[in-house]
Amino acid sequence: MALIRNSTLRPRILIVGGGYLGLTTARLLLKQLGRGEATVTVVDPNPYMTYQPFLPEVAAGSIEPRHAVVPLRRNLPGAEVITGKVTSIKHADRSAVIEPETGEAFELDYDHIVLAAGSVARTLPIPGLEEEAIGLKRIEEAVALRDHVLSRVAEASLVEDDEERRRLLTIVFVGGGFAGIEGLAELEDMVRDAIAQYDTLTQSDVRFVLVEGMARVMPEVGEAQARWVVEDLRRRGVDVYLETFLQDCTDKHVKLSNGEEFDADTIVWTAGVKANPVLIDSDLPIDERGRLTVRADLQVEDENGVVEGAWGAGDNAAVPDLTGGGVGGFCVPNAQHAVRQAPVLAANVLKALRGGTDFQQYFHKTIGSVAGLGLYQGVSQIGDFEARGVLAWLMHRGYHGAAIPTLDRKKRVFANWIISAILGRDLTPLKDLDVPRKNFVEAAQSKPAPKKEKAS
Ligand SMILES: Cc1cc2nc3c(=O)[nH]c(=O)nc-3n(C[C@H](O)[C@H](O)[C@H](O)COP(=O)(O)OP(=O)(O)OC[C@H]3O[C@@H](n4cnc5c(N)ncnc54)[C@H](O)[C@@H]3O)c2cc1C
Repeated sequence: MALIRNSTLRPRILIVGGGYLGLTTARLLLKQLGRGEATVTVVDPNPYMTYQPFLPEVAAGSIEPRHAVVPLRRNLPGAEVITGKVTSIKHADRSAVIEPETGEAFELDYDHIVLAAGSVARTLPIPGLEEEAIGLKRIEEAVALRDHVLSRVAEASLVEDDEERRRLLTIVFVGGGFAGIEGLAELEDMVRDAIAQYDTLTQSDVRFVLVEGMARVMPEVGEAQARWVVEDLRRRGVDVYLETFLQDCTDKHVKLSNGEEFDADTIVWTAGVKANPVLIDSDLPIDERGRLTVRADLQVEDENGVVEGAWGAGDNAAVPDLTGGGVGGFCVPNAQHAVRQAPVLAANVLKALRGGTDFQQYFHKTIGSVAGLGLYQGVSQIGDFEARGVLAWLMHRGYHGAAIPTLDRKKRVFANWIISAILGRDLTPLKDLDVPRKNFVEAAQSKPAPKKEKAS
């Protein structure tokens, strides 16, 4: 196996994943480590951290995609940043295998490992799902979703056949958690604006459908708020189906458990997440849901006790919720926890590195939730305080605008919002991003112009 040129400074703290938890932990470690005390190595397939709470607004064109991601290299001066994927971990040997996008895989040794690889979409074996649906966890998905939906609006404007037009403009979201509700509501708001630009389309040509298996949406807010969200979506013309499951979407023909069937050109799967499967290819302990088993001090633990030198938190770990809340006694996978676990993680890893044993325990009582549901519409719950409409929307923007890491990104995001408020939402889809050479190839293959015969 090939070796890369990398830092020889030891000990090495290997952070798997430069997302919310990984980036924040690395920044805190770099700040607190003495000169030459250790190498901090961050490995992520992306050269940036994705601020996932902004994905719905990226899909709706309210935030520029590059402003919703935080570049790792620029924000981790002094760290070793490797753009690649950890494919397996052998903690017994303190070694991980890394696969860069191009080139050979290589092994990297470490002294401490921090598992911060987050989660991936939790899919089900539904016919057609893998082939036809898209998730909403990556910036590329949000961009593709926006371009796809806006392109379909343009396409539909030229279609005479009612059924075909309806198919192009039917958008289904499966999963009524935060990601699904915010994604659907933001996209619906944008599509309504886009439709208004066309004389050949009417708002009734569009159909948004939400499919949720439970009897309510958004478990993150109270019952009354969740009921209001459903009423608001229905008022906006969204078909909300509760206690309903997607059964089939082969060739984008949607079949629901309530017996309804229809064609939909856009199917978005937001029905939950599961811990990153990289943990399965490791010798570290995981629970029945594939999550790393950790203690409240964020040290990995197996049936024999603490696994020395291994740490984890965020979406890929089952972190005990000492407040007595959480689901099954564990912290729910959200950014609110990840960002607060990072300082505990950094402090404890540093302490371990310096020979300490008196570790901090993670304790955080959920403050509440804020969600944007399109321009000037939102819902929030902070303790007993419940807000709806413009106030909740302002709270959502205020909170997340301040929460995105780095001052640079905060400024860019607020600038986006101010510019959009003055100039209006940008409804331009970019075409063929997945086939950028299309025009060039067509030009190269085009017939040469016929030669004109010279007049004698
Ligand atoms: C649409 C959406 C909206 C959301 N809104 C909210 C909200 O309003 N409030 C809230 O609290 N939470 C929200 N969340 C949840 C929140 O974003 C996550 O809980 C949070 O990002 C978890 O942080 P993390 O560091 O554990 O994982 P992530 O931030 O997902 O980071 C994991 C990192 O690991 C990297 N990685 C993956 N595989 C590998 C590998 N094999 N090797 C190396 N690196 C790897 C990934 O590229 C990624 O950068 C939302 C999520 C989504 C999808």
